[in-house]
Amino acid sequence: MAEHYTRSTESATRWCNRCGKRTQHIVSGGRIGRCLEHEAPELSAAQLKRRAKQERELKNPRLF
Ligand SMILES: [Zn+2]
Repeated sequence: MAEHYTRSTESATRWCNRCGKRTQHIVSGGRIGRCLEHEAPELSAAQLKRRAKQERELKNPRLF
């Protein structure tokens, strides 16, 4: 099985048995690595809210 990935590729869609669906997998040095979905830490609602706030602030810098 020959599959080629360019060095610039950082992720690729592959079937993940653990997720039971096609997910993004990290690619490093042209080799498929771990699944990005089930390896991603679960974010709590509070964390998501905080992250959204940080992103808003980055997009809209306060005017002083
Ligand atoms: Zn997975």
